[in-house]
Amino acid sequence: MLRALFINFALLIAMTYLFSLTLRSWPLRRDRTFQVQTITAASLVSVILLLQPAAIAPGVLIDLRPVPLVYLALVYGAPAALVGSIPVLTYRYFLGGPGITPAFTSIALILLVTAILRRLVQPRLDHISWSRGIFLGLVSLAPNGLPLVMLPNGMQLLQQVYPPLLILNVAAFLIVALVLRDRIKLIKLNAMFQRQARQDALSGLFNRRQFDLDLLALRTGDLLLMVDIDHFKRINDTYGHAVGDQVITAVGELLRSNLRASDSAYRYGGEEFVLLVHQPQIGTPELIAERIRDHIEQTPLSVPSLNGLQGDPATFTLHLTASLGGARHMAGTDPQHTLALADQALYQAKQGGRNRWVLHPEPQLGLPG
Ligand code: GH3
Ligand code: MG
Ligand code: MG
Repeated sequence: MLRALFINFALLIAMTYLFSLTLRSWPLRRDRTFQVQTITAASLVSVILLLQPAAIAPGVLIDLRPVPLVYLALVYGAPAALVGSIPVLTYRYFLGGPGITPAFTSIALILLVTAILRRLVQPRLDHISWSRGIFLGLVSLAPNGLPLVMLPNGMQLLQQVYPPLLILNVAAFLIVALVLRDRIKLIKLNAMFQRQARQDALSGLFNRRQFDLDLLALRTGDLLLMVDIDHFKRINDTYGHAVGDQVITAVGELLRSNLRASDSAYRYGGEEFVLLVHQPQIGTPELIAERIRDHIEQTPLSVPSLNGLQGDPATFTLHLTASLGGARHMAGTDPQHTLALADQALYQAKQGGRNRWVLHPEPQLGLPG
């Protein structure tokens, strides 16, 4: 008996590892297709476990088949687990023997208890601890095998197999839960690092690293717009760096709100930002540049007073302006050249008195009309 159960255990762990490889991105997929794939996979694992059962009496088989079904019931709910249990119960039916009725009753009771448990504790796989895993496993799998008492020599069978069966099932459930939890933790961390690698922490915009990559993918007709806050150093010098930081955050949000989802905003460095606007029509770059300049000028920033001196208002208002320089990417030119043209235009805007935009003149050929 122990040998068969050990094989069951090893099979379940191996297949859990394989299944965990299907969890590839965070947030986890919740779509129908993935749900159907998961139900099919769990169902298949359950059937495979039943291929290697321990026969504790003629026609009475025990194995770890409930574990994948408990997983389905906890993650997707009882209806999904019920669907997942159809193949394994059908197969069990064809195997025959007096154990059929207890087998069906066991699965029914397990799904019922797990459905109630799911409602009460709403388990989350990524937050499972050892103690929580043992608790969930113990409660869900407690009914497993109890219906053996329906058999003529049931009481004796139950005394003999119930304790080891429960311990083994709970241990298997715990390992399955921990393997999947660790996989989820890994993909969550991966997603976080990937986001951090491309995002600027202060402004919430893409960072310079992402800009350098996206610059290479610039297409003919794309507009590259540089935005530089005017006299930003004065804000730092007058109110302190913390207030300067808040200004950068606020300008980041403001820039993002001025773009379509297909366009991108980056913090290029310090108080300089770059916007990549895909294929604006002729005449639109001027409108975009003016809209952003005007929006910055017209948006008073409410900043908490950090001095903490008595009599200070809790917040005070800052008025900002910014200068913008832009250039369109032309066919056959180096994107670095387009960046340099935008930078030159920005310099001209600063020289021209700030709070204004300058766009590098566009040749009239080949632009979206
Ligand atoms: P201009 O109108 O010519 O652009 O003048 P400016 O003062 O905005 O530009 P300048 O380049 O002289 O100064 C930029 C300042 O931005 C200097 C630097 O200390 C400050 N700075 C750069 N990064 C940060 C940051 O992350 N936080 C804060 N608070 N300040 C920053
Ligand atoms: Mg500046
Ligand atoms: Mg600057």
